[in-house]
Formats: sequence, C-alpha cells, structure tokens
Amino acid sequence: MFNKILIANRGEIACRVIKTARRMGIATVAVYSDADREALHVRLADEAIHIGAAPARESYLLADRVIQAAKTTGAQAIHPGYGFLSENANFARDCSAADICFIGPPPTAIEAMGSKSAAKEIMEAASVPVVPGYHGADQDPAIIRAASEEMGYPVLLKATAGGGGKGMRQVGSGDEFEEALASAKRESLASFGDDTMLVEKYLTKPRHVEVQVFCDSLGNAVYLAERDCSVQRRHQKVIEEAPAPGLSTRLREQMGETAIKAALAIDYRGAGTVEFLLDEDSSFYFMEMNTRLQVEHPVTEMVTGQDLVEWQLRVAYGEELPLEQADICINGHAFEARIYAEDPNSDFLPATGTLSFLQPPEESTHLRVDTGVCQGDEVSMYYDPMIAKLIVWDDSRESALHRLALALSTYRISGTVTNLDFLYNLATSAPFVAAQLDTGFIEKHHSLIFHDRPQDLNEELPLAAFALLRYRHAQNKTDADIDRWSPWSSSSAWRLNEPHMHRLTLHCQQQDHAVEIEQQGERFIVSAGGRLTHLSGELEGDTLHVEMDGHRQRGVLACTDDGFTLYLARGACHFHEVPPDTGETDQSDAQAGLTAPMNGTLVALLVEPGAEVDANAALLVMEAMKMEHTIRAPVAGRVEHFHYQVGDLVDGGAELLDFTPAEEA
Ligand code: ADP
Repeated sequence: MFNKILIANRGEIACRVIKTARRMGIATVAVYSDADREALHVRLADEAIHIGAAPARESYLLADRVIQAAKTTGAQAIHPGYGFLSENANFARDCSAADICFIGPPPTAIEAMGSKSAAKEIMEAASVPVVPGYHGADQDPAIIRAASEEMGYPVLLKATAGGGGKGMRQVGSGDEFEEALASAKRESLASFGDDTMLVEKYLTKPRHVEVQVFCDSLGNAVYLAERDCSVQRRHQKVIEEAPAPGLSTRLREQMGETAIKAALAIDYRGAGTVEFLLDEDSSFYFMEMNTRLQVEHPVTEMVTGQDLVEWQLRVAYGEELPLEQADICINGHAFEARIYAEDPNSDFLPATGTLSFLQPPEESTHLRVDTGVCQGDEVSMYYDPMIAKLIVWDDSRESALHRLALALSTYRISGTVTNLDFLYNLATSAPFVAAQLDTGFIEKHHSLIFHDRPQDLNEELPLAAFALLRYRHAQNKTDADIDRWSPWSSSSAWRLNEPHMHRLTLHCQQQDHAVEIEQQGERFIVSAGGRLTHLSGELEGDTLHVEMDGHRQRGVLACTDDGFTLYLARGACHFHEVPPDTGETDQSDAQAGLTAPMNGTLVALLVEPGAEVDANAALLVMEAMKMEHTIRAPVAGRVEHFHYQVGDLVDGGAELLDFTPAEEA
C-alpha cells in the first residue's frame, strides 16, 4: 500500500480522506491556500504545503503546484476529492508523467464522460438507454429546434460541457425556444467557455437515481446499491438517501448491471457514479457518469458497511476489489442532508460569516457528521459554502428519517444563515415521509417547506430571560475581577439568594419585550407579555436544564457577538438584551457601539446626519439572519456622517458612522 498520499482538496472531503488514510496507516499531506492556513484539513494532515492565494484558481486549481507539493513531500499518490481537479484529465496525465499515482480513473475515461453529448453516443453504442433527444455535432439552431418539435415539448436544452445545473433550460413550447437557446448558450459560454448544446425530452416527473460503481485494474466491476437524489433545488442535490425507496430487486439489478455496462464501455477504474433518470413507468435513462467520488457517497457506505475511500486507495494501488457482487448487501436505510451557509428564503443565496457557535449532534453508529470546519472558522466567499454533511442510518427508512429530523433540530450553528430549518421542514413534510419523490419535489411542496418554524414567544421569552440571568450569574462567578462597564454588571444590583426583581428588555423577533424576573431562592417567577411563569434550573456550560411550570426541558445557550441564541427542541430563539439607559458610558464603549456587530444589511437610518442625540438614542438598524439589531448612541453627541446607505451589505466590524461625543464637540 502507499506510504504517503497527498489530498488535492480542502474542507470536509479532505478531512474525510485523511481519516481513512490514517486508519490504514498511510501518512497524509494537505495543501492549502492563504484562506485555509488554520483550516481543519491542514491541522488533521501529517504535513501541509501552502499552494497559493485564497481564490481556487490561484491555489487548489493549480495542477503544477499540487504536483510539486507531492514531489516535495514524497507523496506517492494524489487523491483529488471532488470538484477542483478531480475531473481534469490533463491533471491525471500530469500526475502519471510525474510518476505519481492519480487516485481516480484513467484520463481517457474522464475525457469520455467530459462531454454530455459524446458520453451519450458512447452509451448508445454500448446499448445503455439514454434520454431521447438530439446530441449531434451540427449546432444549427434550426436543427436543434426541429429535433425538439419532433420529440414534442417540453424539452430540456443542456450544455454538453455542463455541470452544476448551468447552461440548462427547460422549454415548454416553440414560442420559448429561441430565447431559451440563446440564454442557455450564453450561460454555458460564460461558465465553460463552450456553448455546444444538446436537447432532450424533458421528463415531467422523473426521479434521480444513481448507481455507485467500482472497477479494478484486473477487470472486475461491481455496483454498490443506488442512491435517490431526487430532492433538488436548482437541479442540485439537497437530501440523498440509500437505497432508493420502492425499487424492486429486479429493477435495482437492472440498473446496477446497466451502470456496470456503462463503466466497462469506457474502461473505467476506481469509484464512479452512473446517474439515471427513472421515469414513472420504471424505464430509466443514462444521464451522465461522474468519474470521481461523489459528495453523497456516505449514504452508500452506511448501507453497505464499506469504506469507499479505502476501496479507492486499494484499487489505485493495483489491488483487487475488496468484495464480489454477491457479497455486497444492503443493510437498513441512510440519509444525507447537506448543511449549507445559504438563505433558502432568498433563492438559496450563498452566505458567509464566522461560525461563532457550532455544535453538531453527537456522532454514533447511527449518526455521522462529515465536516471541514470548527467553531470560530469562517465560511468565506472563496469556496463552496457547505458547512457539513449530516448522515444518519437506521434499520428502516422511517426510523432513519426520525433520526434525521432529530439531528437537524439539534444541530446548532450561529454566525451565518443556514438551511437547517429548510432541511428540517423538508425531512418532516408528509410527502417526503411518504417517499413521494421526484425531481420537482421542492417546487411542488413549496408551502410545506418554506415557512419559519412557528415561535411561541409566551414560552420562549421566559426561557430566554431565565437563561440570560443564569448566564450572568455564571459569568459573575467566574469573573472575579468584574469589569464595571460590562453590560453584565451594569444593569442592577445582583444579590445572590435574595428575593430580587430584575428588569430586562429583550429584543426578539423585531420587537423589544419587557420582562420582569423575581428570584425567590432557587425559583424564578417571570412576568412577560402579561403572563407569569415559574422556572427553576441550571446552566451547565452552555447547556440549560430548566423546569418551566412542571415541564423539564434541555436547551443550549449560544452567546455570540450579535447576541444570544437559545436552542430548544422545537427550534431556535435569537435574542439580545437592550441595554438599560444608565446614563454613564465611557469612551471605549462609545467606539465599540458604532461598528457593525456582524455581517448584515443596513435596513434603516433613524436620524439625519448632523443630528444631536442623547445617549442610547437609536441611530440605525441592521439585519442579519432575519434578526434586527439596533445600533445606539454610546453617549450623547452628534452624528456626523453615515458610511452606508439603506440596503448596503456591511461586513461585521466595519465602522458604520462618524460620531462626535458631546464633550468633545
Ligand atoms: P448537471 O451536470 O448540470 O448537474 P445533469 O444532466 O446531471 O446536469 O442533470 C441535473 C438534474 O437535472 C437531474 O438530476 C434532473 O433533476 C434534471 N434533469 C436532467 N435531465 C433531465 C430530463 N431530460 N428531464 C427532466 N429532468 C432532467
């Protein structure tokens, strides 16, 4: 076996590969860009080589530097992960030329699948069914249109060089054809530098079912079950599962054998995925073959009990496949949910931010978290904003799905907007539970999936207030030397074990809420929104154990730069305290208050430049993660100038305005 390998990737997949290599006793070399100096994959690897600047084209996509890093460190093989150089035939060739093993298929196999139209031709010749359509070299728009008309609308235009859903347009009728073709070509040219198109019959209710295949260099080939990846947004996978629900053994075997036929047609070696569209009548069509390890490979690992990275390493080293077809069994059911820093309510717009609080659910034989980030890491604009892959397994689909929902609701992330609620809504929606899957799932069930979880402030405000008091109590105990100006010590006299009234203003769901808490020994009576609630409990670290009116609950309190998040079983409650107007503030506070507390959008300017304001006057409002933050005057003074306009995106820490305290003016 190899003694040392280099991983030409970053993030979760680099960490994933390192784990298997380590288990197999293989030393690992990571590569990193300026942005990843402190990244998890760099810290996990035995060695790491800096290969350039943050943008991928100046580091992770530079084949020469990656190969040089392997030479420098004496790595015998390169695992490309997915994305970046993984499907670059020239890179695979350059590796061989440098006498380094490329852990992947031969360059010719990568090339054969590089163009969607060439791939369809090869598959037709190997009698693998392909979606009916036109994929000829003649790109005359009249010919593409005639083919579309002959098939009948709707049709799907695809860029032959396409990937990631780019350069793809659905055409419903002849009237839309011209415009759709022009825009698909434009997008394709911009993304891939090539605007060759093919057209296919658009299947209206297909499932995306893909087969994991493996081939070795001794002529053996097997398939390791299939994955259903029908749940997609903008043609990109969101939740994947294995096996595909409702597939008969016969159909599974047919698809598996067809996938092997596809792989053998291109002399494949290593791990590959043959993607099919499965139509309602159980006919299936080859769509494309991904010549690398897929993002969603863990669901296959969970149901087959195999480590696919280990298989890749063995095959690349020239060994025989670890198992024969007859020995590969499917056990139970697995799901993978892709957790992203993105805003599902803004068309899945990628987000950035510092992961100020990050607490994944605990790993077990039922639950796996593949990630490349830790608390405090930044999701930067340079790379894919995936935070983690959450993978669950159980005996049945139903039990696995319960685990998925529970794990999603206990996955705690602060510091950026995420798709966690969206995934939870999706995983618990009745049609998903009933496995009514097709590629239009998300559009069809939009109202079931896109909603904020209902919040009951009557329940959450008392819990939030209680958690905050317990937090302060813990802070006061640990901070022997209490900062007189800290908000935790400035609000009121805190007397341990004595009846005492605390008055707080909590900002939650765009509103200020007055809360009164009376402490009677270990019990607290909270008055909020005209309702009295009795609470007791403890905050241990960040875990809140609380009993509220006889109901014991557990939550997690995350304290971040922009306030607090109380995570409860039913969802998260974001809040912050509106500081009481003590009339005394010093200069350091004055500076601190005038910078953006987080990445966000400026939504309102509340005073005119030049305005004289009192201490604590509201000056502007920012919004991040659906939560508003009011920036207030630290002392009395004059607002000279705002640096941003309403609607501007502001980086956390940026100075928001020029302000002159009254005494200086
Ligand atoms: P890309 O390589 O850009 O990801 P694919 O060819 O893999 O594009 O297709 C991505 C997704 O688009 C599929 O999973 C499926 O949901 C949808 N799709 C592709 N071809 C068709 C088709 N002929 N009919 C209906 N949907 C399709």
